[in-house]
Amino acid sequence: MRSLRFDGLELPVRLKVHPRACRIVLRVDPQDAAIDLVLPRGVRVAEAVEFARSKGEWIRRRIEALPPRVPFADGRTIPVLGYDRRIRHRGLRCREARGAVWMEPGELHVVGEQAHVPRRIADWLKIRARDDFARRARQFAEEVARPVKRVVVRDTKSRWGSCAVDGTLSFSWRLIHAPRFVIDYVVAHEVAHLCEMNHGRRFWSIVDRLIDDSIRPRVWLRDEGGTLLRYG
Ligand SMILES: [Zn+2]
Repeated sequence: MRSLRFDGLELPVRLKVHPRACRIVLRVDPQDAAIDLVLPRGVRVAEAVEFARSKGEWIRRRIEALPPRVPFADGRTIPVLGYDRRIRHRGLRCREARGAVWMEPGELHVVGEQAHVPRRIADWLKIRARDDFARRARQFAEEVARPVKRVVVRDTKSRWGSCAVDGTLSFSWRLIHAPRFVIDYVVAHEVAHLCEMNHGRRFWSIVDRLIDDSIRPRVWLRDEGGTLLRYG
């Protein structure tokens, strides 16, 4: 990976060519504080890197404003479905173990070697996310009488969900940190795309049929969505 150095900061840079981009797009990834540079076709890498360098002050401010990361580690607190849970590492010989990871009131317990704690929690959250979103999607899909082909979870950063023409719904597994009303909105949104592949009036009337309020979760995602990326 390339990196950009200025003022004593050394930042990783990820380059991507996007044929439909009409200008250079510069982003600071809240998850790893890397710089994402999207290049339109025909723009040279050196030119894009120079552009990023000219925005050094802006990049620095963005990085300083990033919320601190919360690793999946003993004693740290992470939200699951919007409720805070403190991670407790239980060691190898835990008699009350219920699987590798399990919930207790206000806590998330994990057994095994210390080195495996982050991975075990991430795996558990992903499975939980997939099962939860799939169950919800099937309920909503039944209401609009459209079949869901498959539900998958990914680690997407720029979109929370998507709907493919074959009826496959994809979601960011990190939504499992969000409150239920936010998850329901994202799932209802993608299920509504099974009927309407656009964001027109008919689309929104379907969303509003599936959930009570589509405004509050959208505001939440706009204001708080970025915080979902700081865990793990
Ligand atoms: Zn949409």
